[in-house]
Amino acid sequence: MSTYDVAVIGSGPGGYVAAIRCAQLGMKTALIEKYSSLGGTCLNVGCIPSKALLDSSHHYEDAVKHFEDHGIELTGEVKVNLQKMIERKESVVNQTVDGIKFLMNKNKIEVFEGIGSFKDATHIEISKSEGESETIEAKHIIIATGSKPASLPFIQLDKERVITSTEALKMKEVPKHLVIIGGGVIGLELGQVYMRLGAEVSVVEYMDRIIPTMDAALSKELTKSLKKQGMKFYVSHQVNAVERKGDEVIIKAKDKKDKEVEFKGDYCLVAVGRKPFTEGLNADASGVKIDDRGRVEVNEHLQTNVKNIYAIGDVIKGPMLAHKASEEGTLVAETIAGQKPHINYNLIPGVVYTWPEVAAVGKTEEQLKEEGVKYKEGKFPMRALGRSRASGDTDGFVKILSDESTDEVLGVHMIGARTADLIAEAVTAMEFRASAEDISRMSHAHPTYAEAVKEAALAATDNRPIHM
Ligand code: FAD
Ligand code: NAD
Repeated sequence: MSTYDVAVIGSGPGGYVAAIRCAQLGMKTALIEKYSSLGGTCLNVGCIPSKALLDSSHHYEDAVKHFEDHGIELTGEVKVNLQKMIERKESVVNQTVDGIKFLMNKNKIEVFEGIGSFKDATHIEISKSEGESETIEAKHIIIATGSKPASLPFIQLDKERVITSTEALKMKEVPKHLVIIGGGVIGLELGQVYMRLGAEVSVVEYMDRIIPTMDAALSKELTKSLKKQGMKFYVSHQVNAVERKGDEVIIKAKDKKDKEVEFKGDYCLVAVGRKPFTEGLNADASGVKIDDRGRVEVNEHLQTNVKNIYAIGDVIKGPMLAHKASEEGTLVAETIAGQKPHINYNLIPGVVYTWPEVAAVGKTEEQLKEEGVKYKEGKFPMRALGRSRASGDTDGFVKILSDESTDEVLGVHMIGARTADLIAEAVTAMEFRASAEDISRMSHAHPTYAEAVKEAALAATDNRPIHM
């Protein structure tokens, strides 16, 4: 039987990063993945393919709607070749997944293909698709088995017309009317892809606003911008039935006045969150506790109740984000190596890759109010930037919230072009506990979208933006 210092179960951005960091720290490491393709949800059916389709559909939209404004005239018909778009997405996925294979070889990590299940707290049986199995032994084990799409009890996901994000990433046709249950990240990102390609898109959301966990000002601005682009929103609607009739899907909901509302579409995307995945893991045999929401229970060192077993990523508490999973993978590897790493969960940024992009870090205005923290707000609109006018991306703003007495930055909320990249500045500033004035006194290249961060910081410091 082969023995290892560490065995990692699951090869997503949590698991593969944990394995690399363990190997870098000199540990003999094994990585177990049930699929032949490494990279987990993120690389195969999550972050990467969704961004590939967002980029492709954005090019199409620009060609159809915006080229003319820039003085570019298309003489032929501009058409979508969905099959080719999906094939391109698949080739992006394949290149990325191959990169992970390369990194495993480079770091001398032994990869096992098969379902990993505990025999006891130090032995894992790996069952392969051909029915064979083998057992390995490891001093430390990291559970990184991720998550799967969640649904609602009354929904029958047929994966043809009533679909999850996985099917929405490989459609064979552009829907005529895509009804999306859930106005969260997946619903909006994939909704925008198909809206750009010509679908009518209706988003039915239970809460009173889309992206309900983000700052309310971001929800408002994103709603305004997506409505302008053609997306329809039905907030405060509780879906209570989904029925398929041939090629039609009928979605029934109750609005806030308790009135029955019916939506008819040719596809229904169910995007109501994801649930932790531990099927096949046989966690009981290891003694590891699973909580009542199906998550592996961990302490602040991400250690389970069984001392040598850790868990990271979507399978534990916290936001289901690839970069959160990766930070946790690094933390556990370094903890096993005897180091004392730390993650500041308040500073894990959240991004929605619609256009305009939405990005945030730290506390929302609603949270600060609830916590009774006195704060100042500085806001700067994208439309006042030369860079935004040059590209034509004038929707959005940057909003900085800083402590009323110390001026320390407590939260940064932005919506606009390339804010997914801009948010890194806010994370850096907040990691170094910068004040709004600190940011305002740093030189920001001109003309850039980043100037909105400096201007918002000037506004937060003592209300003295230059260009407004
Ligand atoms: P996963 O990536 O889910 O990986 C778990 C792996 O474990 C899988 O490969 C699975 O096959 C394997 N596994 C499970 N059980 C076993 C077992 N018993 N034996 C062997 N292998 C096993 N996050 C972002 O930060 N940015 C984004 O832009 C973003 N976009 C997304 C878009 C979509 C459509 C979706 C669905 C998700 C998106 N996410 C995004 C979320 C992100 O994908 C997850 O947060 C991330 O993948 C979690 O990483 P993980 O390593 O915890 O688990
Ligand atoms: P989500 O939690 O972001 O959004 C789900 C939405 O569905 C919420 O707004 C919720 O109020 C709504 N909802 C729940 N029950 C409902 C009902 N009965 N009727 C109507 N609406 C209902 O979940 P998601 O969009 O499915 O994404 C899943 C996970 O994947 C998230 O945790 C997210 O972090 C991750 N993800 C991240 C990114 C990114 O970082 N850009 C992209 C995609 C997915």
